[in-house]
Amino acid sequence: MSDAPVLGTRFADELPEMGVSWQAAEPPKPELLVLNEPLAVELGLDVEWLRSAAGIRFLAGVDVPDGAKPVAQAYAGHQFGGYSPRLGDGRALLLGEIGGRDLHLKGSGRTPFARGGDGLAAVGPMLREYVVSEAMHALGIPTTRSLAVIGTGKSILRENLAPGAVLVRVAASHLRVGSFQYARATGDADLLRRLADHAVDRHYPDVPPPGDGDRHLRFFEGVVERQADLIARWMLAGFVHGVMNTDNMTISGETIDYGPCAFMEAFDPATVFSSIDEGGRYAYGNQPAIAQWNLARLAEALLPLFDDDQERAIEKATTALGGFRGRYAAATVAGFRGKLGLIGTADDAAVTALVEDLLGLLRAEGSDFTSFFRTLSRGGADGAFADWAKRWRDLDPDTAAMDRVNPFYIPRNHLVEEALAAATEGDLAPLHALLDAIADPFTERPGLARFAEQAPPDFGTYRTFC
Ligand code: AMP
Ligand code: MG
Ligand code: MG
Repeated sequence: MSDAPVLGTRFADELPEMGVSWQAAEPPKPELLVLNEPLAVELGLDVEWLRSAAGIRFLAGVDVPDGAKPVAQAYAGHQFGGYSPRLGDGRALLLGEIGGRDLHLKGSGRTPFARGGDGLAAVGPMLREYVVSEAMHALGIPTTRSLAVIGTGKSILRENLAPGAVLVRVAASHLRVGSFQYARATGDADLLRRLADHAVDRHYPDVPPPGDGDRHLRFFEGVVERQADLIARWMLAGFVHGVMNTDNMTISGETIDYGPCAFMEAFDPATVFSSIDEGGRYAYGNQPAIAQWNLARLAEALLPLFDDDQERAIEKATTALGGFRGRYAAATVAGFRGKLGLIGTADDAAVTALVEDLLGLLRAEGSDFTSFFRTLSRGGADGAFADWAKRWRDLDPDTAAMDRVNPFYIPRNHLVEEALAAATEGDLAPLHALLDAIADPFTERPGLARFAEQAPPDFGTYRTFC
């Protein structure tokens, strides 16, 4: 395969205990449904070649470049609070690294981690991940990216028969909190240390080199900071991840695993979309607390690396974990300063009070959490918001700056559903129209008004499925 890229084998070589060598299943009739050309170029891939039959076979993981070592990765995880010692890539595969980032497949067939699953994925959910992850990227929120979705030509059984697909995903890495839980549970202290050093090397260049006693504590503090910043970004965008299990939280600080996720419209902290989240564990307003809970599980896994004395290790971990709150609060205030055009004016206490009152009003009014801020910058907040808006205006907001951080277009749930339903029937036009809108979320453009509108009332309560 002369045109195939060279894929790195760093994960496979450095951490052989953390995966199983594996190969993708051969799709009967692979067809490129969508290709992310800017991302392909960024990765140094040849777009023409990717669109060829050979390129599609490469993307589907069927033709593995010489020297590559695809692996199904092992990890553990807490799912809805309950611990599973062995999850892993049941239907996914790390093809290798490209430019230091992971090239990864989802829906590529059963692996030794598949348990009862069929190893497959349907077109709809894979396109949902493509749309939402690319929307997050366009919003400037750290995330895995989507390079392509390949239709497999094979029907799979879900609620109905559905066309199968493989998502080709790019990530800083696929190291998760659950990866560390898995390594710790093996009881192999050397493996845990190698995994941590691998993660530091790939994601935390500022952590001191080996020999510094608190190296792994600094690493943990780094993860805490990145996750606090990330969750603040989710909250500011109205994003509900939906399945914040510890195996779905990255070490790099990127958003990962777009399953039952969705953007909230009417502001309400209790917002839940996932059909399986009956207790509301992963509701919008719970996301910061859940992130901190997940990070406590990471700390537990890392304890032996913090100190030989377990009491002291726990003290260090507790202090580091306690940093989450302050970091999250600071990122939130900074973010709301941006959304309200108040960078460099007013003190934090005044901004915080203003935000708290605003959130109370948004909740009482059931206002759309996205369009509100664009309406506000145009001077349109009246009615119940009149008194609040006067206080806000008295702080001399920069409304042009607001429009650079408050999106006009997000992947609205009814439009995502419409695009996925059409794609499942073979019509990709609505998907491409939606992708065009969300690729440039901050610039209002003629002819795209419907992409900025809330779901019509008859859309009803939105429920998502994994
Ligand atoms: P998720 O909820 O997407 O994070 O997945 C949780 C676990 O279930 C992971 O170990 C997945 O690899 C596995 N899994 C999900 N769907 C399938 C499937 N269709 N076949 C095999 N494994 C699956
Ligand atoms: Mg997952
Ligand atoms: Mg998933």
